[in-house]
Amino acid sequence: MSSSTVITNIATLVTNDPSLGDGSPLGLVRDAAVVVEGDRVVWTGASRKAPATDNRVDAGGRAVLPGFVDSHSHLVFAGDRTEEFNARMSGRPYSAGGIRTTVAATRAAGDAELEATLTRHLAEALRQGTTTLETKSGYGLTVEDEARALRLAARHTEEVTYLGAHIVAPEYADDPAGYVALVTGEMLDACAPHARWIDVFCEKGAFDGEQARAILTAGKARGLHPRVHANQLSFGPGVRLAVELDAASADHCTHLTDEDVAALAGSRTVATLLPGAEFSTRGPWPDARRLLDAGATVALSTDCNPGSSYTSSMPFCIALAVREMHMTPDEAVWSATAGGAAALRRDDIGRLTPGARADLVVLDAPSHVHLAYRPGVPLVRQVWRRGVREV
Ligand SMILES: [Zn+2]
Repeated sequence: MSSSTVITNIATLVTNDPSLGDGSPLGLVRDAAVVVEGDRVVWTGASRKAPATDNRVDAGGRAVLPGFVDSHSHLVFAGDRTEEFNARMSGRPYSAGGIRTTVAATRAAGDAELEATLTRHLAEALRQGTTTLETKSGYGLTVEDEARALRLAARHTEEVTYLGAHIVAPEYADDPAGYVALVTGEMLDACAPHARWIDVFCEKGAFDGEQARAILTAGKARGLHPRVHANQLSFGPGVRLAVELDAASADHCTHLTDEDVAALAGSRTVATLLPGAEFSTRGPWPDARRLLDAGATVALSTDCNPGSSYTSSMPFCIALAVREMHMTPDEAVWSATAGGAAALRRDDIGRLTPGARADLVVLDAPSHVHLAYRPGVPLVRQVWRRGVREV
């Protein structure tokens, strides 16, 4: 029998269960307590009603919320794109190869270097409250390099995505059909055992709707579930394809038609918004209000990658979503926790209710609203993962 611990004297507890607390989607409980046993939450409610436990932790009138679920990152990479960012922000032309720069550096790196970079970023994310983090391949683009990326990622997270279809590999620049055949054939065979998800960058200059359909369908046949980089830089078929194939998530969603919005609202496919990408590229913000008002499920994620969004901070993304995308603080916090869990089709994370995994954040603030109210301030004071305090 594992020992039980009560975290008590919580000013504001975010449970993400509307049947608890104030009845809002966040299921807020004031003056609350959480009881953790082993790696699970076993009880939540008012402090004064908390059951007896072996151990007691006083939250000191702070806020507690579920650990952030970052459902979209690209962390198996090597190299650096500081100069590309600097040029873009300075209005100077820059003609290095974007993703291709990272592909070349990643291929040249040893396993130990790639794994060290990955674990450094995972630790960085954990310190900022992220307790579940999805990550992808996509900077190898050969059979061996893609499989290696996934093998390394699977040592550190259960949410691993095969993104051989990030861009057409440079060797296949004149033969995109040959590359799609590789991604759906030999590369898929090598990668499927190490991944849970398959993803494709459906965009002009990457993969069109028919190529994306072929890739995702081949992945599904091998037991991988789809998610899609959709409608990021332009209008296109990505979102509707994601909905058609019951993808867990359509990610970016920056350029949407009314039909795209209606398709998302009528589906289980989550619209995952990645405001770090728009911030880092000075791109137009996705219209979160339009999606929310239509009834779509919205997640927030970092898209952490060395080219277009080099942040691992979910609090930063929450602040951007509130300030620039007109989400309410409650909506943004929900999307960064329960929304991310929905985008990973998980019901054991992203909430603090009996049976959920004991992944939680104690803020150095009395309310979750401070995540947007005090942008850039390191408010994450404690992080518990699977019932163990890690920060
Ligand atoms: Zn991405």
